[in-house]
Amino acid sequence: MSPTKKRKVDDECRVFKEEWTYQYFFTAVNGKAACLICNEGISVFKEYNLKRHYNTKHAGYSEGLSTEQKVKKAAEMVKNLIKQQSLFSKTQSIHISATEASFYISYKIEQSKKTFSDGEFVKDCIVDAARILCPEAQNKFENIALSRNTVMRRVQDISKDLSQQLHTACQQGL
Ligand SMILES: [Zn+2]
Repeated sequence: MSPTKKRKVDDECRVFKEEWTYQYFFTAVNGKAACLICNEGISVFKEYNLKRHYNTKHAGYSEGLSTEQKVKKAAEMVKNLIKQQSLFSKTQSIHISATEASFYISYKIEQSKKTFSDGEFVKDCIVDAARILCPEAQNKFENIALSRNTVMRRVQDISKDLSQQLHTACQQGL
């Protein structure tokens, strides 16, 4: 390995990235990454470790699923985990649902060829509606991240995932 290619392990993210939830079916529980499929825990938040676990133990698990379907499936698994084990605080569970909503809305914005900054307008509207219809739950809607940058990042994550799927399909000769 040449020095330039040497991975700076210490600098690598030690923060759990939310896209790992639907890419590798992991979630963060008490400072560990927990596999949503077999419940195995991985103590370091490193993409390489999660990816390796997924590819060796659960290869093909999400084969044929679209990104949207994977996001939905992973979110359901996280919710089941919350129900089963009560590992998460209520706040964390609201946060997970808010992330799921943010992905769905970003995906819709992209599909309907709106601009990324329209996310802010959409959020204004749903927060207004929530304030009128269910004021007790208004803060849940306020938690949906839909700033221009967030929408852009979600769309990039989704398209990165799509091109990876396409790449894999090509390699498999599909
Ligand atoms: Zn597993």
